[in-house]
Amino acid sequence: MTFKAILVSKADAGLKTDLVTLSDPDLGDGDVTVAVEYSTINYKDGLAISGRGNIIQTFPLVPGIDLAGTVEASASADFKPGDRVVIHGWGLGATHHGGFSQRARVPARWLTRLPSNVSTWQAAAIGTAGFTAMLSVLALEHNGVTPASGDILVTGANGGAGSVAIAILSGLGYRVVASTGRLNEAEYLKSLGAAEIIDRRTLSEPSPQPIQPARWAGAIDSVGSHTLVNVLAQTQYGGAVASFGLAQGTDLPGTVLPFIGRSVTLAGVDSVNAPPAKRDRAYQRLATDLDFGKLEAMTKTVGLAEAPESARSIFGGGIQGRVVVDVNA
Ligand code: NDP
Repeated sequence: MTFKAILVSKADAGLKTDLVTLSDPDLGDGDVTVAVEYSTINYKDGLAISGRGNIIQTFPLVPGIDLAGTVEASASADFKPGDRVVIHGWGLGATHHGGFSQRARVPARWLTRLPSNVSTWQAAAIGTAGFTAMLSVLALEHNGVTPASGDILVTGANGGAGSVAIAILSGLGYRVVASTGRLNEAEYLKSLGAAEIIDRRTLSEPSPQPIQPARWAGAIDSVGSHTLVNVLAQTQYGGAVASFGLAQGTDLPGTVLPFIGRSVTLAGVDSVNAPPAKRDRAYQRLATDLDFGKLEAMTKTVGLAEAPESARSIFGGGIQGRVVVDVNA
C-alpha cells in the first residue's frame, strides 16, 4: 500500500524537502499503524525543516511533531482499529517518521485517545502548541494561581501556544494580559479573550532592576531570555511563571531575587516527554475548557505539499495562531 509524505533529506547545502510516495516497508517500527488525517505546524517544525537546532536526528525522515488520525491496525491491547488518536512529541519527526504523512507506525505508548467531543481536526489545531498551553495552565493551577489571584501575562501572544493559552485562561475566568510585537493584531487577541494588550518591547530589554513593581499573579512564557527575566521580576509574591519557550532566546540572564525575595515559582513545562497520564489529564481539560469556536477562528488549514513552506515561515512571528496540515489535501 502506498501513501504520500514529506521527506527531509540531507543535501549539499543544508536540507531538502520532497513530496514523495512511500510504501508499507518505509513505515518503520511500532505496534500501531495510524491512518493520519492531520498534522500541524509548530515552531519546532520550523526548526526541523530549516535544519536549525538539530531537531531531526536521522535522515531521511518524515517531519511533523504532531499527528491526529484513526488507528488502522494494532498489535497493542490498548488500541483497536477505529480508535481516534493524537500524538504530540515523543520521537515524532525527530527520531521517528512524523506526521507530514498519510500513514504512520508508532509505539502504542505514544498515543493519546481523543475525548469523544474532540475531533481529529480539533486535536491537530490544538497541536503541540495548544497542548503545551494546557500543560502551562495546569502548572499555574498546581502552584496555587486562581482567577482571583490577579492578572495573568501571556507572552508570544499571537503565536500558536500564546493564542491557545489566552483562549483557555479567559474561558476559565482569568484576566489575561497579552504581550505581543504585533500591536496591530489587538482585535484578534481581544477576540480570543485578552483583556489588555502590551508591547513586548516593554519586556524584551535587559533591566537593571532584578525586582520590579509586582504586576502578575502568573505568567505563561513562550519567549525566554530577557523577557522571562523581566516577567519573573514583575511577578507578585507567591506567583508562578510557566516557562516553555525560547522565541527570544534560551538564555536566562537574571538573578534569584524573585525566587528568594518573593517566593515566585518558575515552573518548567515540557510537552515532548510528558507522561501518558498527564496527556490524558490535559486532553480531558481541553475537552471542557477550550472554546472550540475560538480554536477554529485562530486556525488555518494547508495541504501536505504546502507544509514545508508554511513551517519555514514561522520564525519571527510569521504565523498567527495555529496551522493544521490536511495530509489528504
Ligand atoms: P510561534 O512562532 O507560533 O509563537 C512564538 C511567538 O513568540 C511569536 O508569534 C511572537 O509573538 C513571539 N516572538 C517571536 N520572536 C520573538 C522575539 N525575538 N522576542 C519576543 N517574542 C518573540 O511558536 P509556538 O507558539 O509554536 O511556540 C512558542 C515557543 O515555545 C517556541 O520557542 C517553541 O519552541 C516553544 N515550545 C516549547 C514546547 C515545550 O515542550 N517546551 C512545546 C511547544 C513550543 P508576537 O508576534 O505576539 O510577539
